Amino acid sequence: MEKTQKEYYLREQLKAIQKELGEKDERQAEADELREKIAKAKLPKEVEEKAIREVDRLEKMPPMVAEATVVRNYLEWLLALPWHKTTKDRINIKLAEEILDEDHYGLQKVKERIIEYLAIRKLANKMKGPIICFVGPPGVGKTSLAKSVARALERKFIRMSLGGVRDEAEIRGHRRTYVGALPGRIIQGMRQAGTKNPVFLLDEIDKMSSDFRGDPSSALLEVLDPEQNSNFSDHFIEATFDLSNVMFITTANTLHTIPRPLLDRMEVIHISGYTEEEKVKIAEKYLMPKQIKNHGLKNEQLKVSEGTLLRLIREYTRESGVRNLEREIAALCRKTATKVVKENVQGITIEADKLNDFLGVPRYRFGIAAKSPEIGAATGLAWTEVGGDVLTIEVTVFPGTGKLMLTGKLGDVMKESAQAGFSYIRSVAKILAIPEDFHQKNDVHVHIPEGAIPKDGPSAGITMATALASALSFRAVRSDVAMTGEITLRGKVLPVGGIKEKVLAARRAGITTVILPKDNKKDLEDIPAGVRQDLKFIFVEHMDEVLANALVPAAPAFKPDYVNVPISLGDMPGLQTTADL
Ligand code: ADP
Repeated sequence: MEKTQKEYYLREQLKAIQKELGEKDERQAEADELREKIAKAKLPKEVEEKAIREVDRLEKMPPMVAEATVVRNYLEWLLALPWHKTTKDRINIKLAEEILDEDHYGLQKVKERIIEYLAIRKLANKMKGPIICFVGPPGVGKTSLAKSVARALERKFIRMSLGGVRDEAEIRGHRRTYVGALPGRIIQGMRQAGTKNPVFLLDEIDKMSSDFRGDPSSALLEVLDPEQNSNFSDHFIEATFDLSNVMFITTANTLHTIPRPLLDRMEVIHISGYTEEEKVKIAEKYLMPKQIKNHGLKNEQLKVSEGTLLRLIREYTRESGVRNLEREIAALCRKTATKVVKENVQGITIEADKLNDFLGVPRYRFGIAAKSPEIGAATGLAWTEVGGDVLTIEVTVFPGTGKLMLTGKLGDVMKESAQAGFSYIRSVAKILAIPEDFHQKNDVHVHIPEGAIPKDGPSAGITMATALASALSFRAVRSDVAMTGEITLRGKVLPVGGIKEKVLAARRAGITTVILPKDNKKDLEDIPAGVRQDLKFIFVEHMDEVLANALVPAAPAFKPDYVNVPISLGDMPGLQTTADL
């Protein structure tokens, strides 16, 4: 007590002396400095009043108390935000087209949509309207398209990932009463941008989730709504900030997980994966020059032929986009740079068969279809967030009591679809020469690798039914055939989504024949002609047609002992349709 009293007494004395000498005390000096900054910053009236009130409060506080730090931090934020600063838009459609072409190969439809969007903005003369949402697998250029839009408009570019955001406060900030409170990510982004009209990329809007801490999507709804976002309020800032001049662009891998109200505010632009030819061109024209430059090399120091690039794509990457391809090219550049520096070589030409020396053994074997036909394994085409993929569905049959086991992290829809397929196969057991009592004496296990990745949807229906038919009738499934389609209980094949991605994946895997539902025929239009030529498409309406095309006609010459097959496998009848029964 005595000590503080003494300190207080001394401080008062110091103040009196400073006053006499015409010097300001520290606190007052700080307050005056802040007031000056506030006057210069030309804050909106409401914010300015708030700031001045805070400065008055700060002046009365002992300088080292925690509260003073909070106030200082708050004032710093208020002063740093771009309340008025804007960049002038350059809406020159021709130039925008040139910039988009300069940065991206292909993507014609996507570029057209962007240009239309900009043209309307020019005519309407303001940036209100739906928000663009680029949807597609990783590495197809969503982020870089948004960057090009910013470059074309001469706006600042800010990117914020929403992946894993599950707390409303991350969007809207924490109240200042919390220790270590900060504004939300939107306001942080605005500070970083330094202007009030940047292009603001909200990445991975589909990866946001909500829990007991509140729903971030409702806060985001306010951010993206042109009617509301001129008055965006952040809990930390406690003043409204005008976001109406910001051009928001969002990206997502899938639309399924985006809340409906958010989706309604967005104009969705789909970007699908690239074909091998497109990837070669992108690598040649964009990724190689970019990486060569990034690594301080010159174009003539690293030469890679088209054939080498194709091999790189086939054996070192398996993806819809070009992200890993870019990474592998960076690895080639690193190795080249080392050689140039260490061994003093002039330049390197990498031949296709020398990729091994640079990147190690190939990671993927091109063409899994090179395998021989197998019993109880059918190749399906799946569409996941990361693009299309081929997956092998396995079925085994063993003595038991008629159970159907499904494993591989299948979702409910997929499980039901497997059951529908199973029931259908049971109903046509006779024409497939499957013993009719098989379901009483055997258990059937359906597994879909890779077991750790959750899968759902009805589109593997016909593949599961084919694998079941194969396992139960001991007829192998052609390994160069892949398929997708939903199956009904009575064996009808219904259309499914993601055809383009699936077909591209089939081609990547070296499949030659693709079985698709008849109603998906129209989707082939989206598929590049080169890919269409390479593949044989079979359009089906009924499961019979699937089996007729996917099963190897001749039955194998072995019969497992545990299944009691009454007829000789060699005599098995050819496939008939149910109508012939
Ligand atoms: P996403 O945001 O879709 O995951 P990115 O925009 O990060 O993908 O793209 C990954 C890389 O691939 C970037 O370097 C990008 O420039 C490049 N890229 C993607 N598509 C194209 C294209 N069509 N032309 C040229 N480069 C591309």
